[in-house]
Amino acid sequence: MIIKLDQAVELIKSGDVVAFPTETVYGLGADAFNIQAIKKTFELKGRPSDNPLIVHVSNQQQVDSVAEQLPEEFEKLKQAFWPGPLTMILPKSDRVPDLVTGGLNTVAVRMPDHPIALKLIRQTGPLTAPSANKSGKPSPTKPEHLDQDYKEGIPILDGGSSEIGLESTILDLTISPPEILRPGAITAHQIENVTGSTVTDFRNRSLSDTEPVKSPGLKYTHYKPAATVKWMKRIPATLNQHTIYIVHSKKNWPDHPQIFSYKKNYARLARDLYDVFRTADHLGYSDIEIEQLPDAESDRMIHALLNRITKAVGTDE
Ligand code: AMP
Ligand code: MG
Repeated sequence: MIIKLDQAVELIKSGDVVAFPTETVYGLGADAFNIQAIKKTFELKGRPSDNPLIVHVSNQQQVDSVAEQLPEEFEKLKQAFWPGPLTMILPKSDRVPDLVTGGLNTVAVRMPDHPIALKLIRQTGPLTAPSANKSGKPSPTKPEHLDQDYKEGIPILDGGSSEIGLESTILDLTISPPEILRPGAITAHQIENVTGSTVTDFRNRSLSDTEPVKSPGLKYTHYKPAATVKWMKRIPATLNQHTIYIVHSKKNWPDHPQIFSYKKNYARLARDLYDVFRTADHLGYSDIEIEQLPDAESDRMIHALLNRITKAVGTDE
């Protein structure tokens, strides 16, 4: 059910959880210092408790309440990208319950670029906020998606459709050089331009056997619709009536309700991806075929799109 900001603040202060809009996807917000509220978040989502949560903040004072010994790159990156779709992994302060970080001594922190989110967090203090979907479903990018997931109802702050549509870039600043744990709208290249030094991508190097799990959440399959997702080389002459087709090259694709065409607008494809996944499931399609993406260098959203679609296809597990 849609609620007002004042009600959301009251609910969170009393230990409840509220779905709220951000520029990436909708989050399921709870008081980051309230263990009961955080337990409730894991229960509602059906999320495994070793999958740590991102803490959302609205100002520096709140950062200082959850993190300490801020790495030297932090300030520059904050100036360049906050509020925005960059999550930074920082050394955790004692105040943050272990439940938030899955027992890690680091904490993931982000300042979202959305007026409603910022207003909310200013009044409640730091909020843990995983993507608000039920575990195993694609992240919600509209209030309707939340109604689909929570038949029992959930309090929602309505912010319309999420502008970016894919989850934030996660950057680990507690190691040198900093490492991208999840690609998002902010690219390694943009980060390097700000810090002046290299950034690695953990998927591009082999992990040693003794290394602890980098980011526990990354081992779980996210982003998967019920329909089978496949890469497609070319669209068939006759469309399969059980398939939704997602295409993005500049060709003149036929105007057809089963074809979602993006004409090289990768920002729009990113914004729509989870909605198309959910639409396919809602309408009972069994398959989704997606045209192969071009090189990561050709658009800043490609890396994140490739990561989410590969997970949905299920070939990287
Ligand atoms: P979600 O909230 O669904 O967007 O997922 C948050 C992601 O952030 C998960 O994949 C977590 O594993 C990751 N994450 C959160 N906190 C940490 C941390 N302290 N270190 C590494 N990864 C983290
Ligand atoms: Mg998620």
